[in-house]
Amino acid sequence: MNSKSTTVRVPGKINLQLSVGPLNKTGYHDVATVFQAVSLYDDITVRATEPGSGITVSVVGEHTETVPLDNKNLAFKAAELMCKDYGITPDLSIAIKKSIPVAGGMAGGSANAGGVIVGIDSLFNLGISRNEMEKVGSALGSDIPFTISGGTAIGTGRGEQITPALSRGTYYWVLALSSSGLSTPAVYQECDRLRDGLSVAAPIVNGALMQALMSGDSFALGKALSNDLQAAACSLKPALRLILDVGMDYGALGGIVSGSGPTVAFLAENEEHSLDLVVALTSSGVVGTIVQATGPVAGARVIEHH
Ligand code: ATP
Repeated sequence: MNSKSTTVRVPGKINLQLSVGPLNKTGYHDVATVFQAVSLYDDITVRATEPGSGITVSVVGEHTETVPLDNKNLAFKAAELMCKDYGITPDLSIAIKKSIPVAGGMAGGSANAGGVIVGIDSLFNLGISRNEMEKVGSALGSDIPFTISGGTAIGTGRGEQITPALSRGTYYWVLALSSSGLSTPAVYQECDRLRDGLSVAAPIVNGALMQALMSGDSFALGKALSNDLQAAACSLKPALRLILDVGMDYGALGGIVSGSGPTVAFLAENEEHSLDLVVALTSSGVVGTIVQATGPVAGARVIEHH
């Protein structure tokens, strides 16, 4: 059947800051975070299929063996929810081409859900506003609204309440990827364990970081990067500490574990400097896969419509 399809390109994210508050009564942590969307993308193709065929998911890309293809997949859940909310028969195939590392702390699964929401809107000409799409996404996962909006934004609540942030210029990132992921809940649990007995302040956004973004000052941004989950991610994967040290020794302006890790993001001064960092990190032998990316980039957008 030659049915109509839409392909959506969705970026991964780096948390330039992740401030994690105490565990609250709902079992979650309130956060204050600054997201930047970066040029590492998953492409999600949504296609209407024969009546009765249901929702199917396929995934291609490196280290995708662990990605579920059933209703545990966030893209599947997003399709189910969109069909229910907008009265669409749930006969759809979702094909995911992954470049965002799986379980890498870059919101890969969330990006796939965001792509499905934007894809279904386009495929069925629903004309849903971006705000409404972000609201649908927030019911499924706290990073989903940002993968739809992209750019640079502050996230509060569980990260799902998005406010666009002023940012000038382009930032050059070198990302050290790991072949095995870290589970986000496990990293939060480890964070709670490490903080046991300490009084934890409410999360706040760092003014110096916002100022650095506004003035396009990558040196100041490098110094202001911070992540309250970094100690926990390094505790579960001690090699991350070594990777961070090596990147900083080789002249990165700043280095940070992205979100719950294990991806480590290094900030470079410009494209040439980022190439130097790639060469240095490669020759150090402590990092498996290294990729370059720039940010901020746009959020989920339709790149093909047949
Ligand atoms: P975040 O930064 O939002 O915490 P992450 O980037 O660390 O997430 P994901 O790539 O989203 O991690 O994967 C986390 C887990 O979610 C995976 O181990 C996988 O089992 C599950 N998962 C569900 N749907 C997807 C999907 N579409 N792509 C990748 N993983 C998915």
